[in-house]
Amino acid sequence: MRQHSFLPAFLLLITAFTAGAGPLQCPRLPSGAIIRPENRYYDVLPRVVPADRESTIEIVPLHGHVQFSESCSYELTYTPMITLPQQGGWAPGTKQALVPENGRFRITALFEGEQEHSFIITATCGDKKTTLGDFRVYSLGADLYALRPYKGDFHMHSNRSDGVESPAYVAGACRRAGLHFMALSDHRCYDGSIEAQNAFAGLPVDLRIYPGEEVHSPDNPVHIVNFGGNAGVTELYKEDETQYREQVAALIESLPPTTPEINRFQYAACKWVVDRIHERGGLAMLAHPYWVTGNRNNVDEALLDAFFETGVFDCLELISGDSREGILKNDINGLQIARYEQERAKGRRIPVCGISDTHGVERSEAFGRYYTVCFAPSVELADLIAAIKDLRSVAVECAVGDIERAYGPYRLVRYTHFLLREVLPQHDELCFEEGRLMIRHAAGDASATAKLALLQGQTAALYNRYWAPVATP
Ligand SMILES: [Zn+2]
Ligand SMILES: [Zn+2]
Repeated sequence: MRQHSFLPAFLLLITAFTAGAGPLQCPRLPSGAIIRPENRYYDVLPRVVPADRESTIEIVPLHGHVQFSESCSYELTYTPMITLPQQGGWAPGTKQALVPENGRFRITALFEGEQEHSFIITATCGDKKTTLGDFRVYSLGADLYALRPYKGDFHMHSNRSDGVESPAYVAGACRRAGLHFMALSDHRCYDGSIEAQNAFAGLPVDLRIYPGEEVHSPDNPVHIVNFGGNAGVTELYKEDETQYREQVAALIESLPPTTPEINRFQYAACKWVVDRIHERGGLAMLAHPYWVTGNRNNVDEALLDAFFETGVFDCLELISGDSREGILKNDINGLQIARYEQERAKGRRIPVCGISDTHGVERSEAFGRYYTVCFAPSVELADLIAAIKDLRSVAVECAVGDIERAYGPYRLVRYTHFLLREVLPQHDELCFEEGRLMIRHAAGDASATAKLALLQGQTAALYNRYWAPVATP
């Protein structure tokens, strides 16, 4: 009997430890992020401060079980994460007694360099010493400090092409997963993205919904995403394929000879698509070049060489989502990253994006977990596109069961690690109810609008609290 009852219980235990990924006491959000207990029990304000200046941060207990007591003594241990102090800032391991003022701690320090700072606080009450938490703050150079991180996905499919859900449903799910902005990129269809916009036009919704499409011009196997263009490119060759072929032929004439010889039609067709996207104010992204289709990678190697040499595309889809599993289950993202590093080693500038390429948000492991973070002055389309072109973006992936990974310029990756742990989880959690209500609105729930109005502005307010206002000199 004991044998029989032991085995299922054992299996249950194994399942419990493997299914959730990560500590069981910290449930993951749809984005894959975890809010650390310190960040649930306390506010740390601000979270981000200007580098090489003195700033004051406050650690504020939010709940009865973490209130500071006058009968306890408190000690802070400070550690700058990567740069040693040069201008008189605190050295690693500096300890300082803390006394609560109005129930909170105020810590004034010189935040040297662009880096993360750790403040571990312990409490001694009688003969019992406990660690209250490891509180983190990031200091930034003035250029990056003036910007904010905005998360988005602009390579996704709805049922207007081969996806599962309606455009409105996908948009709502994007907010539910914590995105600031999104665009649908249905195959050969710009209208799906407009339908997503129209579904929430005039409603109190903070998600920015932009237009997009995935362009597949005739006899050109390269997939190109038009993000944000003010009209579709697909209709141009659909309405007049003769003109498309004449214009591509003219482009071929102007191409210099290449070694090895490339498929000149395919190169010129890509250039034609990119030019049309630019005429429409959009960003032209080279989608999943190493996707495996028909038993080979989507883009011929010589053609890819030419793309990088000429910089014809605005950005590279560095982290791809749903299409990452080819026929042989190749890790296409591994290839894209290796290629990116190789091109950068040649001194090339390669703007990067991460996207989910979801074809069904409720069944995709990449949706909400593969995205781009743009560092921009605002979430307006022009600012986002400028950020990507100006190398101010990173690609993020948080595969199920794995930790979050960011790819892109080193400086931004380091900062993104902090954001993914200390800032964005709180943001994602606020977004969840907004996204759920957007989906309810799409289902015809007339009460959703009034509820959304109550939530509007909450994520912007969070950012305003987390970034210290800079006093004008
Ligand atoms: Zn594609
Ligand atoms: Zn796609």
